[in-house]
Amino acid sequence: MNASVSSVERLLRDEQLSPALRQIAEKVAQERRITPDEGLLLYEEGSLSYLAVLANALREQRHGDITYFNRNFHIEPTNVCLYTCAFCSYSRKYKRREEGWEYSLEEIMDMLRQYDGKPVTEVHIVGGVMPQYDFDFYTTLFRSIKAHRPDLHIKALTPVEYHYIFKKAKLSYEEGMAAMKEAGLDSMPGGGAEIFDSEIRDQIAGGKCSAEEWLAIHRIWHGLGMRSNATMLYGHIENFAHRIDHLERLRRLQDETSGFQAFIPLKFRNQNNEMSYLPEVSVIEDLRNYAISRIYLDNFNHIKAYWPMIGRETARISLGMGVNDIDGTIDDTTKIYSMAGAEEQNPAMSTRELVELIRSAGREAVERNSLYEWVRDYRNHTFEAEDDFKGYTALPVV
Ligand code: SF4
Repeated sequence: MNASVSSVERLLRDEQLSPALRQIAEKVAQERRITPDEGLLLYEEGSLSYLAVLANALREQRHGDITYFNRNFHIEPTNVCLYTCAFCSYSRKYKRREEGWEYSLEEIMDMLRQYDGKPVTEVHIVGGVMPQYDFDFYTTLFRSIKAHRPDLHIKALTPVEYHYIFKKAKLSYEEGMAAMKEAGLDSMPGGGAEIFDSEIRDQIAGGKCSAEEWLAIHRIWHGLGMRSNATMLYGHIENFAHRIDHLERLRRLQDETSGFQAFIPLKFRNQNNEMSYLPEVSVIEDLRNYAISRIYLDNFNHIKAYWPMIGRETARISLGMGVNDIDGTIDDTTKIYSMAGAEEQNPAMSTRELVELIRSAGREAVERNSLYEWVRDYRNHTFEAEDDFKGYTALPVV
């Protein structure tokens, strides 16, 4: 008998378990979907050990011990932004734009060329919203990248940027996303979702695209046969009901399109932003949130932990809480989280370090590409010194 199955059976025999939590555990064991009310109960009453047993059983049913990572690098064209999201530690306001960076197309291509000959498979492009980073800029950038390195997967921009760019270019979402695909966009990252509830969203991210607009752009992108990810920013002024509302809207869209690959919970960090007065949630809450995401999002294949944000140790433990993918792996050049007080201020991990982290959690590492096709199986791999490629490239510290 599989260890995770026997753990669920032990859980079901636990006489201390409340009838409601037992019913949820039975449903999960029978691979039946839980309701929003049941999801809320998990947040309110599910202990860490209870959630771990269920989330781990689901993870092992789908993926066994396999834990994915990929080799990507980030390019952030600008950190100056017209929007003023209260949780954002990364952006510089337009009126203080001289404190930030605004790279030209040539400068971005120079950064990209630094990875020539390096074993990276994906470039992740995201940044602030500014008028000069418009439809022409990004379509030219995507074409230039593809002309230079056709096999590099471009994962770029979120509905926050696309909504702004298309409005300015007087294009519908359909026209805009089709043009981005034609220019070379391969997939969309999951950012900009924050929290969908309109009242909370207005308070923390007022003015940028609404939840409905975020979901509409992903729906259209999936309709073009393309893939994207989804996120949720948690641990600020939202409550558990807002989190379930967020997960429910994602689950419904995924039922419609099957276009989401991974869900990435993003922890609110409280340094250098307008919400610094808020305490951060505990590591226990981070782990509970991973587990509930795995249980609730029964139609998402991958739950991903972003280790530079939560730290290596929490990422390692998350592999027993439903997580089967670790992001921010190699050459992680983003400043988004280090500027918000994330655990890792220099987020670079070599392949060897990452594989060893995964192994130390009792899991098996597989390098994937952006579409979760296997690039290299590390299950029986022994490292030689030359495998220890790191190649971290620092961005300017602002
Ligand atoms: S979260 Fe994004 S849209 Fe909001 S201020 Fe920061 S960079 Fe701009």
